[in-house]
Amino acid sequence: MNRWHFFVLGASLGLALGFWSRQETPIAPRAVAKTQTERAERKLPPNDGKLRIICFGAHPDDCELRAGGVGAMWAAQGHHVKFVSVTNGDIGHWREAGGPLARRRYAEVQKAASILRVTTEVLDIHDGELMPTLENRRKITRLIREWKADIVMSHRPNDYHPDHRYTGVLVQDSAFMVAVPFFCPDVPPLKRNPVFLFYPDRFEKPNPFTADIAVSIDSVIEQKVDAVSVMDSQWFEGGALGSASLIPKDEEGRKKRRQEVRAQHLARNRAVANRFRDALAKWYGKEKAAKIGYAEAFEICEYGRQPTMAELRRLFPFFNE
Ligand SMILES: [Zn+2]
Repeated sequence: MNRWHFFVLGASLGLALGFWSRQETPIAPRAVAKTQTERAERKLPPNDGKLRIICFGAHPDDCELRAGGVGAMWAAQGHHVKFVSVTNGDIGHWREAGGPLARRRYAEVQKAASILRVTTEVLDIHDGELMPTLENRRKITRLIREWKADIVMSHRPNDYHPDHRYTGVLVQDSAFMVAVPFFCPDVPPLKRNPVFLFYPDRFEKPNPFTADIAVSIDSVIEQKVDAVSVMDSQWFEGGALGSASLIPKDEEGRKKRRQEVRAQHLARNRAVANRFRDALAKWYGKEKAAKIGYAEAFEICEYGRQPTMAELRRLFPFFNE
């Protein structure tokens, strides 16, 4: 082959590549079609005038732990509740990791969701590796829009765990973008900005958690503990910092360990009621609040819609029960 041959070959290759890439330009519509199918598979609720709540947690157990009670209470009234785990939990165990653990944890949240009667979704992002990227901001924004949320919940952006922290950042980043039409124009923007709420934590810097809303979950405490307790990988086996010594070999020991796990969850929810007794009194009155055994509490994020007390009573239709 002489130089001329190389030139002809190169030119035809260039033309062919150009033609091929032009042929491939309709990639976008195909991608949209794929996301539409994915959306259909997500089983979106009907527009029936009921409340729509979407809760984000960093790991497959965070929503259940912090909003399992109110979630079950809303669901019992026919409202639409969705729990989203932003990571797949694939390093949250001392003995196993990767795909098999992600599948196990997915199965656990599915089981918990069926007990609470809520919808659940786990995003396929590695545990411990969540970053506040533009791609993830889009993901979260689309999920909130698709659910047409009235209420959005998440961790606060100051938290010990980077995945919790970035879940908080990503949800906050979406708190304005959900209403902006040309951000993710493939999903219609929300006409009304939702109310964004944070779960409680113990971190003091730069500012401690404030319980703007506190809800008695006494009527569903057994249901909540049932749901959380099915997550064996996290509680029975101890999660990322557990060990083989936690799991008794004999049946009697295992039964006792299960009772211990239940007692821990009851104590955790009782501690929330005790810690936020003043906030409970604001919503239930002092006398009623004093008798509340178990609670969940939430702080209003400054970035979403700022609700009045009257609107909060409509969004949390539990205080007069
Ligand atoms: Zn977590």
